[in-house]
Amino acid sequence: MNTLKISNLCKTYTNGVKALDDVSLEIQNGLFGLLGPNGAGKSSLMRTIAALQQPDAGTVLFNGVDIVKDPTYIRKQIGYLPQDFGVYPKISAIDLLNHLAILKGLSNKQARAKQVEALLDQTNLLAHRNKAVSSFSGGMRQRFGIAQALLGDPKIVIADEPTAGLDPEERNRFHNLLSEIGEQVIVVLSTHIVEDVSNLCTQMAVMNSGRLLVHGEPQQFTSELQGATWEKIVCKESLDAYTHLDVISQRLYAGRVKIHVKSLVAPGEDFQLVTPDLEDVYFNVLAMNSPKNQAVCSGN
Ligand code: ADP
Repeated sequence: MNTLKISNLCKTYTNGVKALDDVSLEIQNGLFGLLGPNGAGKSSLMRTIAALQQPDAGTVLFNGVDIVKDPTYIRKQIGYLPQDFGVYPKISAIDLLNHLAILKGLSNKQARAKQVEALLDQTNLLAHRNKAVSSFSGGMRQRFGIAQALLGDPKIVIADEPTAGLDPEERNRFHNLLSEIGEQVIVVLSTHIVEDVSNLCTQMAVMNSGRLLVHGEPQQFTSELQGATWEKIVCKESLDAYTHLDVISQRLYAGRVKIHVKSLVAPGEDFQLVTPDLEDVYFNVLAMNSPKNQAVCSGN
């Protein structure tokens, strides 16, 4: 079992943005979903875990080793799938993977060739191994990204917003691949797409404005809203009539708006009690921690 223990991590960039504000978190093998809107601080946390940037304060222990002090330790154990690789060279998938394997320290030629082939197979790219990565579709590139992240059998895999730009079928394949990997190692998946987390992750956290708002099991959070989530489909023009209620989510629904309201009793006429989903949890957590609600709570 691998353990990642993050304690009191802080990071303020030179422009004054506080991207990590006292973040503490413990993660073990399995798929961990880190949810948060754009700008929440997810990438900053991912880059810190991957020892690509230093925090101002706090510690990150991977299997007991302080990786802020000893970044090479985690660099040997980690597979990192960044948001975007940028430019892809015009060389074939197999040659590029082989090259990346050399950079990762896989010096034995035979063992390297064996692993490169196994990873191309695992990511369903064997048939495309001689094609240039630059000609790959978005889904193929993401699978290639996973293949390169798995070189050298990492004990922790970090995937930063990996499903952006994938079509539903590609996303599904990618999810299956991630959950296979998650059985053996820690996989941290950072995303702003709630569905990615609800389909996949056994543990999750929500971040916003550099702070970790909640941390636990998705089912635990949805059960907390059980019996208190009400739904009504309303027309857009009448939305103002519901602002006095605790509206946790609004989704477009066939030209109208489906609103979910948090309430222990029926909030009004024609509201149906519904089974809460992770989207309700996510928006509720964000709303409860918004500056407006914080001000109300503290009486300011
Ligand atoms: P997320 O991944 O959740 O979108 P980021 O960690 O990328 O969030 O960003 C958190 C905040 O820090 C944002 O306000 C972003 O603009 C800022 N930020 C990120 N990287 C830098 C940087 N290198 N220099 C200055 N500000 C940054």
